Amino acid sequence: MEEAIVVGFVDVGESDRILRLLSASRGRFSASLRGARSARGRSAGVLEPGTTIRFRAGPGNRDLVRLTSPEIVASPMRPREDLGRAMALAYGLEVASSLAPEGHDGERLAGLLAAWIRLLEADAPPTDSRRVAFEAKALTFAGLRPSLDVCGRCGGAIDGAAATFDLEHGGAAHASCRGGAPVASEELHILGRLLRAPMELAVERPSDVWRLARLIEHHLGRALRTRGVWAAVNDGEAKEVAWSR
Ligand SMILES: [Zn+2]
Repeated sequence: MEEAIVVGFVDVGESDRILRLLSASRGRFSASLRGARSARGRSAGVLEPGTTIRFRAGPGNRDLVRLTSPEIVASPMRPREDLGRAMALAYGLEVASSLAPEGHDGERLAGLLAAWIRLLEADAPPTDSRRVAFEAKALTFAGLRPSLDVCGRCGGAIDGAAATFDLEHGGAAHASCRGGAPVASEELHILGRLLRAPMELAVERPSDVWRLARLIEHHLGRALRTRGVWAAVNDGEAKEVAWSR
């Protein structure tokens, strides 16, 4: 049996559904589930993004796994009752699955996403600090660890020198190396501590709470669909929706 987290779905025909999933061994992948939309009872929950399922892969092909008799391992409950948690769940699913490789090697990102989902079931609310900690880890586990104490341009230590945040070079750079927008060294230190902190203990708040989200978007080459919704419902930051790139 394998385990995977449902990150999205597409309906096909009258009753079938293609699930988008993230798992440790397969990374991001697609799977067909016949009759999924007419399913009742426990199996109906297999449709919900954020659900962890256990399954056997039936005969299929590399691009589309066929799920046979999937079972629910865990299904997030609190995001169904709380809009902020629902948006945080959607955001986590998008970030982790977008950064995961297709078809292989999803262990660390699948583990991080599972931890994020557990956090949303716990009492601590999703805050910008916890989200930034999640983003820093997601980038790191995708092999895109943000550079925070070393210049992405020349490789030298930042060490308190005037710095910029340069998306092209994956994070901090010396102001003298040119590129990016100025960033305070304390801001880089906060991001570094959030990268290392357990998400549930992350409380420090960078002055720009979307810096790492922009870095993720830069790596993906597109905007994160769920980011504006987070900004609208969590921490009362609707004004952040109209970000500048
Ligand atoms: Zn430099």
